[in-house]
Amino acid sequence: MADREQIPFDVLFVGGGPANLAGAIHLMNLAKNKGINLEVALIEKSADLGSHALSGAVMNPIALKELLPGYKAQGCPIETDVRGDAFYFLTNHSAHALPFVPRHMRNEGFHIVSLSRFVRWLAGIAQDLGVNIFPGFAGTEVLFDRYGKTVVGVRTGDKGLDKDGRPKGNFEAGIDIMAKVTVFGEGAKGSLLRGLATKLDIYSGRIPQTFETGIKEVVQLPENGFFADSNFNDIHTLGYPLGMGAHGGGFIYEMKDNRISIGLVIGLAYRDPTTDLYKEFIKFKRHPFVSRILSGGRVVEQGARALGNGGYYAVPKLAVNGAVLVGAAASMLNAPALKGIHTSMKSGMLAAEAIVEALTKGDFAEKSLGVYQNLLEASWLKAELYLGRNFGQAVSRKMPARLIHLAAQHLTGGRGISERLAVRRDCDTLDPIGRNELQILPTRDTPGDFDGVLFLDKLTGVYLSRTQHREDQPCHLVIHDEDLCVNECYQKFRNPCTRFCPGNVYEMEVDAQTNKRRIKLNPSNCLHCKTCEIKDPYENITWNCPEGGGGPKYTVM
Ligand SMILES: Cc1cc2nc3c(=O)[nH]c(=O)nc-3n(C[C@H](O)[C@H](O)[C@H](O)COP(=O)(O)OP(=O)(O)OC[C@H]3O[C@@H](n4cnc5c(N)ncnc54)[C@H](O)[C@@H]3O)c2cc1C
Repeated sequence: MADREQIPFDVLFVGGGPANLAGAIHLMNLAKNKGINLEVALIEKSADLGSHALSGAVMNPIALKELLPGYKAQGCPIETDVRGDAFYFLTNHSAHALPFVPRHMRNEGFHIVSLSRFVRWLAGIAQDLGVNIFPGFAGTEVLFDRYGKTVVGVRTGDKGLDKDGRPKGNFEAGIDIMAKVTVFGEGAKGSLLRGLATKLDIYSGRIPQTFETGIKEVVQLPENGFFADSNFNDIHTLGYPLGMGAHGGGFIYEMKDNRISIGLVIGLAYRDPTTDLYKEFIKFKRHPFVSRILSGGRVVEQGARALGNGGYYAVPKLAVNGAVLVGAAASMLNAPALKGIHTSMKSGMLAAEAIVEALTKGDFAEKSLGVYQNLLEASWLKAELYLGRNFGQAVSRKMPARLIHLAAQHLTGGRGISERLAVRRDCDTLDPIGRNELQILPTRDTPGDFDGVLFLDKLTGVYLSRTQHREDQPCHLVIHDEDLCVNECYQKFRNPCTRFCPGNVYEMEVDAQTNKRRIKLNPSNCLHCKTCEIKDPYENITWNCPEGGGGPKYTVM
């Protein structure tokens, strides 16, 4: 720690998503009311706030109303409001409207937003309240006191290292941002939480977190596109292309200016190692029902992100000495509803309330910050998460057990057949590749599949996410044992990383000279979705934050 610049703050927020921004805004307002002067910092790994924000997104405004009651007058960027919901089951060629919309999916009156725009707007408000926002700074290491028991801040990543980790001419050493309280709001599968968990016991007694990966596009439709005359503008689908093998579903939401948000969310508990997440998304778009909606459209932006659907029983310890966990990093997703914006915001706000109390007492130990857990237990957030407490485990199961569990949960207020259902980690669910599949693995896109306008290959998709990383930097993806990839993983699963990564980061190639297989990485394509660290069957991949400022540059996601 000695050589690095240290900057002290009262509170440090790591991650500029809705959880932390709502937390920071609430904290500043509460502190002002109590006459407390605070120095607050927020770091975000993307170049601008909102550039790494990707969501659906239908937003339940309940938390926003509590945070900023005058949000509409304050210019909150709402695309449109939900006029009505529709839910379809897709077979291979047709779509069947369900006779009722499941209760979690009833969104009428909620707002449809672009999370990138929403986050940018929240960041402006936080900044006006005095929060010091530092975009382009990735937290790469949790700093502990000398006993390793208390979080004292976060180290940001060095900038200007070459591929081998040697400083170049423009080298800037990372900074140690010290804080009385650090708020971890990194979103799903936060990389700093890995370091936190090695020292402090935040996961024991919880079920493992399970995940889904969503691939999403914003599509520009012609004038008077599909939703113009429709009394619903919020569509969810089940069934095709996922069938029985994987859970998940599609969403299509109206945006303003004749745009739509379209995405497919795929549960990472899938078993078939030949599953190619991106190809599933393209199949979804090609379904006759969906392609009719997309007709004449052009993709404006594309991206992907994992979300944690583990729910209430996967919520980690929310407070440790010197730190709290909020938002998706703390499993705050209402998984049955596919909604985590309002729940994440609320968790940030409850954490802020606990932090203000801790600041007044001058006590930042686990017990003092643990007030946050009590506040959560007494709030609507707990009630909402609790209703879906066994959902993630149920959908991870095979058919027909999945359906039976879901039906039982529907009838019993979330309890289902047995309380606190067990679940396997997503990295443990793949079946070995079948003998017959060895020959037919689709490793490459077929020419002619894509038109570059509405149907994009992976690389054009990456291009439309505006993803860029400085090329000459240490690879942020660590493969711990390459022999495992080329031998065992190849034999048993045919390298599923080449198919679950939506950005074509992982390729298996044969060296022309030695004729040996080797894994080739394209880290510059990385969309920061984190699917690789979650799904790799050997846990052989670690995702670290690349140099701050790199990654996607979403504008309307
Ligand atoms: C495809 C998809 C569809 C969804 N649809 C909906 C929907 O319709 N409605 C809804 O309510 N929710 C939806 N969600 C869920 C919702 O988007 C998330 O639950 C919510 O964004 C979580 O907020 P967060 O602030 O906790 O994390 P995030 O929004 O993930 O934000 C975390 C931020 O932290 C930054 N960060 C991470 N690590 C670091 C680090 N080490 N240093 C610095 N910065 C860091 C990231 O770049 C990011 O900007 C959807 C999610 C997905 C993926």
